[in-house]
Amino acid sequence: MIGIKDSQLVKNFSYINGSWHPSATEGSSDIDVTNPATGELVAKVSNAGIAETELAVRAAKNSFKMWSAKSANERATLMRNWFNLMMEHQDDLGRILTLEQGKPLAEAKGEIAYGAAFIEWFAEEGKRVYGDTIPAPSTDKRIIVIKQPIGVVAAITPWNFPNAMIARKAAAALSAGCTFVVRPATQTPLSALAMAELAERAGIPAGVFNVVVGDDARGMGKVLTEHPDIAKFTFTGSTPVGKSLISQCASTVKKVSMELGGNAPFIVFDDADIDAAIAGAMVSKYRNAGQTCVCTNRIFVQEGVLAEFTEKFIAAVEELKIGNGLIDGVTIGPMINANAVKDVAKLVDDSVAAGAKIVLGGKKGENENFYLPTILTGVTNDMPAASNEIFGPVSPIITFKDESEVIAMANDTEYGLAAYFYSRDIGRIWRVAEGLEYGMVGINEGLISNAAAPFGGVKQSGNGREGSKYGLDDFLEIKYLCMGGLDK
Ligand code: NAP
Repeated sequence: MIGIKDSQLVKNFSYINGSWHPSATEGSSDIDVTNPATGELVAKVSNAGIAETELAVRAAKNSFKMWSAKSANERATLMRNWFNLMMEHQDDLGRILTLEQGKPLAEAKGEIAYGAAFIEWFAEEGKRVYGDTIPAPSTDKRIIVIKQPIGVVAAITPWNFPNAMIARKAAAALSAGCTFVVRPATQTPLSALAMAELAERAGIPAGVFNVVVGDDARGMGKVLTEHPDIAKFTFTGSTPVGKSLISQCASTVKKVSMELGGNAPFIVFDDADIDAAIAGAMVSKYRNAGQTCVCTNRIFVQEGVLAEFTEKFIAAVEELKIGNGLIDGVTIGPMINANAVKDVAKLVDDSVAAGAKIVLGGKKGENENFYLPTILTGVTNDMPAASNEIFGPVSPIITFKDESEVIAMANDTEYGLAAYFYSRDIGRIWRVAEGLEYGMVGINEGLISNAAAPFGGVKQSGNGREGSKYGLDDFLEIKYLCMGGLDK
């Protein structure tokens, strides 16, 4: 593969119980992994199915006793090796990621460091799974609380962060003492398989980290949500798919966590530092060509700074260089596929039909997978580009008069993942931060995610948190021990 120094990182088979498995599913043809920037074939991956998924669950089940019995220090040492190897191979992993996903190489390498940071962070946090002692209601008793790993964890992840969405889940699960099976998105399996290769080199035992690659999303998803040997299911993806997976998990009462869609408001008040707001809007909107769940979706600008903000924002967006992410200087890549471009174009066209105005972009780029960075003005909160998750490089600008009006508009959505606002008034900062119905709020900041902070949403954006000390709770069970008969 082009420019990969360590060719062993490019794998074509699922990784189950410490070995590489060609598909046993009869008649299944390989999955073609293509470069979204060029359409070229990057690699073929054997197409696993239900049988391999069940095999992976069995492997995770069989290795759970061994992995959970290790001390947190032993697990941390192996995870630290994994982190070190990911950082050592950051260039190759970044290149593989750009080839299958499209984001610019610098951003892809950033994702590798971001994903690896979760492994480093949780390796240490696993040493701090503390229990509790609670004063008992009578003198002959003692109440003790211990925390234990929940068991086998299954995960389904999306294509927009092919490394980090897996690292974020696997790091917490493994450090808690759980074993793990992930089914990555069909379009981006190579990053997941490269992670498995490095997990093996790091010494993580067979069966602890398994990756099954296959295009039967429903069939494999059914195994991962309904198998009785799986204790916990964790999903990152769209809200509609998340809802159906939650209901599938009900049959075996699994613990579930969901990282779903968003519709992030980005609010610029009259008293904001406009240059800082422009920088924040650029990074929160156009990273990954607008295809992140925490991407700014609606830009609300107060009347007094509308002209200045819009003029400076257009100038900044015009500076973006669109193209193949492997080319030096490219700052925004393609979208994942032609359908994603069609969906975004429709939101723009429908909003224009409803009265919005295109002031930049608004059309397809050099091939069917590119959509030009776009700015719309004159948008209202009920137009399609505002009421839907855009998931593309489009910024709708909405004007507002006062604080209570903008908080109401910002909250007028079923989503509640990330929100951003810019102000320098300390009273307003508290009022708005508390008034926004979102799991995460960036205040004078457009880039909020890191391993130490709790990532997650409210409302239909999901439940549970990833990263931070709270991120371990999803992978642990609380056990209450009552010791009696202690009085003489
Ligand atoms: P998606 O269509 O929900 O797909 C996500 C994953 O689910 C993929 O692996 C997909 O497999 C699989 N899948 C699809 N239908 C399934 C089914 N019926 N049963 C089992 N698995 C199924 O989402 P997407 O379009 O790839 O990703 C974009 C969405 O993810 C956006 O809404 C975004 O906001 C959200 N997201 C959220 C977060 C967060 O942390 N909150 C982070 C990133 C992305 P295939 O690849 O085979 O289709």
